[in-house]
Amino acid sequence: MSQKGKEIGVFAGYRYRQDRRNADGSVSWRCLETNCTGRMKIFTDGQMREITKHENAPNVAKRDSERVRSSIRDRAASTVEKPRQIVMQCTNALSAEAAILMPRYTATQRAIERKRKRAEVPLPMPRSLADITIPDNLAVTSRNDNFVLCDSGDDDAHRMFVFGTDRNLELLEEHADWFMDGTFISSVAKPLAQSTGRSSGLVDLYRNDEEVRLYTKMLLALAFVPAADVLHVLMNWLIVVLMSYRLCMITGKTFT
Ligand SMILES: [Zn+2]
Repeated sequence: MSQKGKEIGVFAGYRYRQDRRNADGSVSWRCLETNCTGRMKIFTDGQMREITKHENAPNVAKRDSERVRSSIRDRAASTVEKPRQIVMQCTNALSAEAAILMPRYTATQRAIERKRKRAEVPLPMPRSLADITIPDNLAVTSRNDNFVLCDSGDDDAHRMFVFGTDRNLELLEEHADWFMDGTFISSVAKPLAQSTGRSSGLVDLYRNDEEVRLYTKMLLALAFVPAADVLHVLMNWLIVVLMSYRLCMITGKTFT
């Protein structure tokens, strides 16, 4: 192998960089780990031998693969990600040498399932909106980005959550046209319609202002969008909040 013109080689689990050619024709290689004095030699007859002991952990690749295995176990117990997702997330930075030491995917998948069964700690069932506590591991995406954009607070009788990432918001901001689908439960739209209607002065605005009319209709139309999956529902929630915000800006009301 070569990297930036320098020869790189793997011998007995260690990675080496070619150091110098000796007078006797043998070639010295030094360990790639920083601060490691490990050396090996390739003799003229092709024989390879470790000359100086390594100072770093006995086998970097082994250590790396063990670290990855343990992070897979941790994630299995603390997230609801699919096994394939977990494996991908945990192994993407793994060196080729360490990847060889990893168990097969199916074995890892079984290990994840076993770990989950053992670690099964059911989340408490909330009895009211105030009871809802989003566990830390569910408040972030698999990329570790914040996923709870807004929580109106446990003292809010009509508590509302907005799920999404900053990137999601940026995307909405970057584009003038938004298309959407997904379930939008009518129980969400009904109080929305009532509260929209109750806001003082909004009825007049609705009658007289075309833009207010448009946004209100868009907001309420969400209730009749056909069913899809949970993520879409969450996106819809976000959009409703953004639209409500827009309405408030237009009508000059406080955003609540
Ligand atoms: Zn070394």
